[in-house]
Amino acid sequence: MTAVDLGFPRVPGTRGSSRAPRPANPHLIDTFGRVATDLRVSLTDRCNLRCTYCMPAEGLDWMPGEQVLTDDELVRLMRIAVEQLGVTDIRLTGGEPLLRPGLEDLVARITALSPRPRLSMTTNGIGLAKRAAGLAAAGLNRINVSLDTVDPETFKTITRRDRLSHVIAGLAAARDAGMAPVKVNAVLIRGLNETEAVPLLKFCLAEGYHLRFIEQMPLDAQHGWNRGEMITAAEILSMLQTSFELTPFPSARGGAPAERWLVDGGPGDVGVIASVTRPFCAACERTRLTADGAVRSCLFSNDETDLRSLVRAGARDEEVADAWRATMWGKLAGHEINDAGFAQPIRPMSAIGG
Ligand code: SAM
Ligand code: SF4
Repeated sequence: MTAVDLGFPRVPGTRGSSRAPRPANPHLIDTFGRVATDLRVSLTDRCNLRCTYCMPAEGLDWMPGEQVLTDDELVRLMRIAVEQLGVTDIRLTGGEPLLRPGLEDLVARITALSPRPRLSMTTNGIGLAKRAAGLAAAGLNRINVSLDTVDPETFKTITRRDRLSHVIAGLAAARDAGMAPVKVNAVLIRGLNETEAVPLLKFCLAEGYHLRFIEQMPLDAQHGWNRGEMITAAEILSMLQTSFELTPFPSARGGAPAERWLVDGGPGDVGVIASVTRPFCAACERTRLTADGAVRSCLFSNDETDLRSLVRAGARDEEVADAWRATMWGKLAGHEINDAGFAQPIRPMSAIGG
């Protein structure tokens, strides 16, 4: 692998090659000078929806229970991440994180770590109406709820379940529980919900939610992604501009994946996460832990490190931390979706943690 200049400050002593010796730096650095401070943790690969762009109607072969990290194992790994590896932000995801038994207790244990990480969650919102207050009381700071349409029939077609009203109620409960900001994630699929961009933004502006469109990525279990058919960021923006005036958001984007625009002069805004057509890998600050204890440096990695085996074999904190650092040191420059030789990772999005 040759060094690629990503235009970011280098960690001294790194040369853009995973074979370069790793400097004695306690943080999650890679050879391109990036530092991962944002940990995505998948709590389960199971889900109660069947979004067509994510998994097939019959679901997937879920991970056997004994392979899934226990709460104690999860909390230990998160403690190592914040105490030793410089992680400052943790996002709980899945599969559907609300399906994890004892989630509220887990949230309380994570937010009791020192230094305390900022804690957020990405969820489909089913069941959130009854749980938002408890999750906020346990310390959950922020939430992203996935919602691809405000039309009940279209919701049923996309998710293969008739649950739109549950998601709408979940969003309102999160806002009423004081989680701020409440964000909405939307994926647009040609022929399914491509006309939903404007109605979704109208809904989010009226309710005070922050809408983020995500370009569809080749991470579905059934390998149905098709570049020619995906709805691009440029298309999303031109659809929105038929009804709204968009002006670039004044503050810097930093490591955030969404490019943001003020809507009709603000204060409402909208974001687009253009992972495919405008990759932001050069500014990536993420590291990922799957529900069965594998650390990955990227959604699109083909390599991962099995921390669960280390933990269950009795490894010391420092050994676990070092294995995590070594994984991140090997992080590639980018996801390579746009390269001719791109191969979709074996694990689907729902088993990695989106
Ligand atoms: N079940 C939860 C949910 O839907 O929010 C959390 C996990 S889901 C995998 C996380 C996010 O990934 C969701 O916003 C979902 O819409 C998005 N997602 C799933 N498959 C995707 C794909 N192929 N391309 C882009 N985003 C995808
Ligand atoms: Fe479940 Fe989320 Fe995948 Fe939809 S996107 S099937 S809610 S994991």
